[in-house]
Amino acid sequence: MKLLEVKDLRMFFVTRTETIKAVNGVSFDINEGETFGLLGESGSGKSMTCRSILRLIKRPGRIMGGEILYKGQDILKMNKTALRNIRGKEISIIFQEPMTALNPVLNIKTQINESLLRSRLTQRAKQKRIIELLRLVGIPSPETRISEYTHQFSGGMRQRVMIATALGGSPKLLLADEPTTALDVTIQDQVMKLINSLKEQLGMSMILVTHDLGVVAQMCDRVAVMYAGVIMELTDTVTLFARPRHPYTHALMGSIPAHGKERGSKLEPIMGSPPNLSDLPPGCPFWPRCTLAEDICKREMADIRPVTPGHLSRCHFPEKTVHFTGLIKMPREQGEERV
Ligand code: ADP
Ligand code: MG
Repeated sequence: MKLLEVKDLRMFFVTRTETIKAVNGVSFDINEGETFGLLGESGSGKSMTCRSILRLIKRPGRIMGGEILYKGQDILKMNKTALRNIRGKEISIIFQEPMTALNPVLNIKTQINESLLRSRLTQRAKQKRIIELLRLVGIPSPETRISEYTHQFSGGMRQRVMIATALGGSPKLLLADEPTTALDVTIQDQVMKLINSLKEQLGMSMILVTHDLGVVAQMCDRVAVMYAGVIMELTDTVTLFARPRHPYTHALMGSIPAHGKERGSKLEPIMGSPPNLSDLPPGCPFWPRCTLAEDICKREMADIRPVTPGHLSRCHFPEKTVHFTGLIKMPREQGEERV
């Protein structure tokens, strides 16, 4: 059985004046022990996909449809008790910004203790476990630091505290939402390596959200490329780099040096702007920026379907990209800034 199956997930922001389709029919699954990447430009729906899995969506956001099966049970249909038993114990999340996830008025011990609340350990055993967790994530002298507050920690150390908190309940699946983006570049690599080694050591599966192709190349087994709330392409990492079959993936790789193989290279925005999610035109959301687009691309969005076994693409003409070696150059609109 798959550990997690997401089927046709839709998550919208619904207000009186508009409906923003942040996640618009997303399907993928996660195998035991694998690292699955969610890659895409900012605003493509990666975070909302992750948050939906734990039903951490705030109004006016709403999950409109789909299924999220964890070990065969639909999380979207669970009652509060069942959901509480999943959160932290089965599935944990690490957010991009540690300061928003950690509570400034609680010391580290109390903070991590919250993630152990439902375990049956005695207070003494919990203390031991917290020190063990802090040591695991590489915080020096955990016995003394345990009574300090988050503001006494550097950004990197705070992110380690958040990771320790996420690991408190020994989850089987870790959702890591751009876990190092808020950190200094000098320590991003360290923290990413730490997450990877903990994942291996504890035998977890992981969904890794990133806009960094270097991170994908180094850490992910399979990857889904997201754009405008949909998955454009999904395949194993090696194939994604060797033979991208969706023009958007080509554009992503072309927008940075060395076809993304350079470690730590960041995506530069592609020319043109992503579509307005509250007023999506018919057709493929990428067609206005795609030099390979034909008439049908402007009328209907292609289903996501296999181009080879295990390699899915949502393009009417995936065969066009096979021999396509040039970059997809997006025409720059007049007066438009590359931000
Ligand atoms: P990503 O993580 O890929 O950068 P998100 O999943 O955070 O993108 O957001 C997807 C889209 O949802 C955004 O483009 C934005 O339009 C919309 N969105 C996110 N948060 C809100 C919000 N609080 N209210 C309205 N729309 C939102
Ligand atoms: Mg995000």
